[in-house]
Amino acid sequence: MSEIRNVSVKDVEEAIYKLALDAAYHIPEDVLEAEKKAYAKEKSEVAKQVLDTIFQNIEVSSKEEFPLCQDTGLGIIFLEVGQDVHFVDGYIVDAINNGVERAYKDGYLRKSSCNPLTRQNYGNNLPAIVHTFVVPGDKVKIIFDAKGGGSESMSKVQMMKPADGREGIVQTVVDWMIQAGPNPCPPTIVGVGIGADFERSAVMAKHATLRKVGEPSPDPVLADMEQEILTKINNSGIGPAGLGGLTTALAVHIEMEPCHIATLPLAINTACHVNRHKEIEL
Ligand code: SF4
Repeated sequence: MSEIRNVSVKDVEEAIYKLALDAAYHIPEDVLEAEKKAYAKEKSEVAKQVLDTIFQNIEVSSKEEFPLCQDTGLGIIFLEVGQDVHFVDGYIVDAINNGVERAYKDGYLRKSSCNPLTRQNYGNNLPAIVHTFVVPGDKVKIIFDAKGGGSESMSKVQMMKPADGREGIVQTVVDWMIQAGPNPCPPTIVGVGIGADFERSAVMAKHATLRKVGEPSPDPVLADMEQEILTKINNSGIGPAGLGGLTTALAVHIEMEPCHIATLPLAINTACHVNRHKEIEL
């Protein structure tokens, strides 16, 4: 019988606090790398200037510990909990919310959560949105994603017809991203969830934006679709900040799971050029 490991929620709170501040100030290395590659192959002078401004912003944010963007996002947490973990010292969701609230207060990060109808700002950036997965083992993996409103708004779930198939999916994603134009603050990382059910497809799409940029799906069929969609989006010429250029998207990442025989759920979630996310294992 496997041993139960106690994990203090106080350690989780502290981890969330540090991840939220780290994500706000320091862009993930792989995102920066992909943007540098985009710069190297870019032909448009305007697009080069846009990317150059992005690089300056990244440098100042990192050095001075200023937010990478004024929209510091809602806190989205992917929490992978080993089934042999027992949380102690409090309730895990309270600890996560405390970590987010403290980070946004101490870091003077903009608080973005509001009442959807009155639009009254709650002033604490709460609640965090927590997606929990039970996995084998006795570890806790936390991914913190600071999701901005511009890129999030350029998302959708569409219940396709099963007969739409591969071609229908490719066309829908390409059309959607071209219609999105400059709104998701390109160059973007496009997350796509295919299958499962209505809500899980959306979670897959968001999770897909957090994969190492440009790392192809291990499934060759999906890797081929990722490449085809990426090429078609970039052929649009929308470019960095929507001012024209070769790179509208840095990558397309697809996740797929089995679905009902009568359905074909498709979700698209976009990450903007700062794609702030950090992770830790406890
Ligand atoms: S989409 Fe990203 S870069 Fe654009 S405003 Fe929102 S957080 Fe900032």
